[in-house]
Amino acid sequence: PGSSTSEHVSLAADWVAANYSPLPVVLSHAEGAWVTDVEGRRYLDALAGYSALNFGHLHPTLVDAARTQLDRLTLTSRAFHSDQLGPFCRDLATLAGKQLVLPMNTGAEAVETAIKTARKWGYEVKGVPDGRARIVVMAGNFHGRTTTIISFSDDPVAHDHYGPYTPGFDVVPFGDIEALEAAITDETVAVLLEPIQGEGGVILPPEGWLRDVRELTRRTGVLMLADEIQSGLGRTGSTFACDLEGVVPDVYILGKALGGGIVPVSAVVADRDVLGVFDPGSHGSTFGGNPLGAAVGRAVVGLLATGEWQQHARRLGAHLEAGLRELVGHGVEAVRCRGLWAGVDLDPALMTGREASRRLLEHGVLVKDTHGATVRIAPPLVVGEAEIDILLDAFAAILR
Ligand code: PLP
Repeated sequence: PGSSTSEHVSLAADWVAANYSPLPVVLSHAEGAWVTDVEGRRYLDALAGYSALNFGHLHPTLVDAARTQLDRLTLTSRAFHSDQLGPFCRDLATLAGKQLVLPMNTGAEAVETAIKTARKWGYEVKGVPDGRARIVVMAGNFHGRTTTIISFSDDPVAHDHYGPYTPGFDVVPFGDIEALEAAITDETVAVLLEPIQGEGGVILPPEGWLRDVRELTRRTGVLMLADEIQSGLGRTGSTFACDLEGVVPDVYILGKALGGGIVPVSAVVADRDVLGVFDPGSHGSTFGGNPLGAAVGRAVVGLLATGEWQQHARRLGAHLEAGLRELVGHGVEAVRCRGLWAGVDLDPALMTGREASRRLLEHGVLVKDTHGATVRIAPPLVVGEAEIDILLDAFAAILR
């Protein structure tokens, strides 16, 4: 890295809290699937802002929506209506096949909102005695970083030294339907899950598990909350990862790509019998549902409504998976792929995920490790076959 890179890295070391450990590349421009650093080098973005950039950088339709709105009205607070919120929520609810949307900003806020929804529903609809509601969550989960959410994280780095912790959560192994059934009691109000665990390393549950969860939660009168913040909105080759098993949860939790990589937009989407528990003042956020976010979010929904992105992710995902499978036995131990989303487990004797990410950077490809020897690949859905091949060639090169 030249002086400009090292200057910025050193400024960050001096002035930015060290709650992240970025790779030593300093980005200044981007378009589509490509980013450019301060020294003019170009890289293929194969992380896509942890799936916040599903439609690539500066997608013209999304930038237009943001620009137009920037010139009109950016914030009303929810003290007043805006002409953007209703249309956005109508379109998003329609995309999800649900009746109501509760808009927030970040993913963690949407998860918090879903937890509050489930508890309030439990007390007011299900009839659980006040203060006793329980929610079953999965081992290896990642739902964000607020105090309540990290209370049920089993990742010590995310969890430790932030107590006292929020009670009311039961953890069961991901993909284990018997353990889930055993954990459900009369006081259980919800099961919270990622249909595919993203931060966990693109962990796929056993075939049929989501359907079994749906059947079990329906039978026991428990809400099924699907955190599709990372898995949803086209990434897996369908609008929602739950679609891959034909499952419709009670509650979708959405974020990341909903803001088009431009502004933070998240949402909880459900039917009136669930989200109807909120009344004025019982929940909210100054920026949640703001006109700028709503305009961008509505444009995102417009892109997804055609189904073309989902189809493209499916087709290109098959190409990505086939290429990655050829690396198994050549430094790669396992590959898990759904659409344009892959977890690649390297032979830990060969290198860590962090080391692989650093070497891929040198080959002009940006990815990030998750845990230990796992690298997660999630390019923007705008990539073509040639770009997937660049990624595969770079991967093969670092393993040689
Ligand atoms: N839920 C899932 C499944 C995620 O992957 C993430 C972020 O990676 C979150 C929640 C938290 O989102 P945010 O970082 O916007 O709070």
